[in-house]
Amino acid sequence: MLIPYQYRLYSPWFWWYRFGLNRSQWFSQDAIEEYLEEKKSTILEYALEKSPYYQNNFSEGAPITVTKDNLREHYNEFVAEGSDLIPQIVKYTSGSTGKPLKIAMPKTQDLFNDACVWRGWNWVGVKWGTRQAWLEPFFKKSCYEEPMRRYGDLRLYLNSKLMDVPKMYSYLCWLTVFQPEAFHSIPSALYVFTCFAETTKIKIPKMKAILLQCETLTPERRKYFEDFYGCYVGEWYGHNETAISASTCEEGGFHINWEMGFPTIIGGYIHATSFLNKIIPLINYRTNDQAEIIWGRCKCGRESPRYKYIKGKMRDPIIRPDKTFVGGEFLTTDYMTFKLWVKQFKFEQTALDHVVISIVTDDEKQIPAFKKELQEIFKNMTVEVNTVPAFNPDNFIIKSVVKPEEVF
Ligand SMILES: [Zn+2]
Repeated sequence: MLIPYQYRLYSPWFWWYRFGLNRSQWFSQDAIEEYLEEKKSTILEYALEKSPYYQNNFSEGAPITVTKDNLREHYNEFVAEGSDLIPQIVKYTSGSTGKPLKIAMPKTQDLFNDACVWRGWNWVGVKWGTRQAWLEPFFKKSCYEEPMRRYGDLRLYLNSKLMDVPKMYSYLCWLTVFQPEAFHSIPSALYVFTCFAETTKIKIPKMKAILLQCETLTPERRKYFEDFYGCYVGEWYGHNETAISASTCEEGGFHINWEMGFPTIIGGYIHATSFLNKIIPLINYRTNDQAEIIWGRCKCGRESPRYKYIKGKMRDPIIRPDKTFVGGEFLTTDYMTFKLWVKQFKFEQTALDHVVISIVTDDEKQIPAFKKELQEIFKNMTVEVNTVPAFNPDNFIIKSVVKPEEVF
């Protein structure tokens, strides 16, 4: 959420994209396949013509795949010639393997992505004017440290960055007063919040939808949220590179937003091709998310391809001895973003009062200061920082033995 909301609201591009997406959602499979073929070959030609990285490493007709390491190590070579005139933004990502990475993209790409988000919301009854609450780590905006009602009282922001029991109690009260119709969050934060909410007598308002993003939602966790909130639980899949995305429809089909980019499954992993990034062209860019794609008409009537499943980034919540929650998004995206000397990382909470951080780095003199910073975050816990030569990442970048349902 780097572009101010007002900018999106007033940008004619945003409305133009929404108009187009409302029509294209009903395209037939044949029309979609034709569009994909054309877009894939156009961006491929563009990359081979403008981007030195593709010119130097691939000849025409040869299969192309690029990795996060390629992008990290040859970033400047990826930049397409003449793209400095395109209005752009830069995003940082932690990646599923915990390796920080930066990427530039056209501003319009971010707006297009936002228009796709809105289309997904519309599918489940969340429209302009719907009262929506967010439980997310709002680390970029200090004004969201406290609960905040914005945009004509239609939005309520609750910060999950460092939640504790009094905060969660007050958030429950805010929800009962605000009466949201939709509640957005990330699975790990909502899990902690829901485990706490279960222990209170406060009645959660009846909502249309819970909408989750950023982390893999397991079937067990989905069932838990559906049972507790008694409403639809939807998902958004995307990544900070904004090459591809997907939204769940009213029937639970996980539809790929094929208009912006398309995934190819190679060796079980999603490889993303962006149709919109003319600054850093991404062709078959390997993510660490595993998935399967299915075609055929969904129960909702749309013929766009869907994910049968996605297995991506997993983050357990970390709960400190004083029952405060340290959000994974805060640790692995915001906090780690600028730790560019860390090549790879993994957090493991091995006991309520002990956390181990494994890192891959060639710059060990940064570690004492790093450890001091971590000690500030993990108050009343022992912090262990280990350097490791490399590790095979599983999908967990934060793992914990502490179960929220046993703490509250
Ligand atoms: Zn559907």
